Amino acid sequence: MNYDFLKNKVNLGFFPTPIEFLPRFSAEIGHEVYIKRDDQTGLATGGNKTRKLEFLMKDALDKGAETVITIGGQQSNHCRQTAAAAAKLGLQCILILRGYEPAEYQGNLLLDKMLGADFLFMENEDIFSGMKKLYEYSQAYKLNFYPITMGGSNEIGCLGYVNAMKELKIQELEMGFDFDEIYFPTSSGGTQAGMVLGKKIFDTKAQIIGISNDKSNMDGLPLHDYIFKIIKEAELKYQIQTNIAHSEIIINQDFNEAGYGVITENEISIIKKLAATEGIILDPVYTGRAFYGMYELLKKSKQKKKILFWHTGGQAANFSYSASF
Ligand SMILES: *Cc1c(COP(=O)(O)O)cnc(C)c1O
Repeated sequence: MNYDFLKNKVNLGFFPTPIEFLPRFSAEIGHEVYIKRDDQTGLATGGNKTRKLEFLMKDALDKGAETVITIGGQQSNHCRQTAAAAAKLGLQCILILRGYEPAEYQGNLLLDKMLGADFLFMENEDIFSGMKKLYEYSQAYKLNFYPITMGGSNEIGCLGYVNAMKELKIQELEMGFDFDEIYFPTSSGGTQAGMVLGKKIFDTKAQIIGISNDKSNMDGLPLHDYIFKIIKEAELKYQIQTNIAHSEIIINQDFNEAGYGVITENEISIIKKLAATEGIILDPVYTGRAFYGMYELLKKSKQKKKILFWHTGGQAANFSYSASF
């Protein structure tokens, strides 16, 4: 197979990201647990969107875009990283955000402002239809706008995590062992779609286990079906003969009862624990929940395993949850 499509990107981050062993957490849980530091990818405090944006921004530049537009919540890491990528490439960035403009800008929103992004707050309207309208206006006025979907999760953005699995494969060869399981937070699906594709392409042994952060659908589809759709679109567009089955996508839904962005005692306790015992800061929306989920699942697992937790970033959001800590 020809994987030249993995070269069709701009360089926006610092790779490979390091893999660290967690000695105290491993001793407590009885498994060998490592963490991959995609919170250190660069782009205004890092995170998983850097990898996706390397491919999405290349597509934007190829299409002659002068402005990128995207959507999210006010504490969206994806919006912050898109604003940073646009700044780095000399493009304009418009963020279409949920809800009313707050009196005080905090966390990711503060960084968005510093990065020079423009904002449209959707007080009453759905952000998806807000972006659709703005894009239609831009076309009518012949403006070169490039829309980036929720979380950058489409057949182009997912290539960031196909590439990441190649990076991991090389790190496994260097370390001299394979992981048994990989845990990470899954939400708009692009990360998982890329990991599942990359596992097949680069013949990774580890089981890929996404811990779901929210119960909501993506584009009217359950997350499982949405991830499958991204994978099928990528297989088709890039002629990848992986033939992934729906059953190869593993999503755990046991830890998202509180809903998206709602921090619970479980997450607060695990975030504090990892900070105080390993010096690593998780985030209040995604990795806190996924790490807690992994902790619960590993506690029940008897056979000793080599585990990788994939830290997808998001720490800037902690500043808008300060009252919880
Ligand atoms: C966006 C995001 C995720 C989820 O990735 P998806 O590709 O949307 O599933 C996980 N963690 C953090 C910190 C994120 O910002």
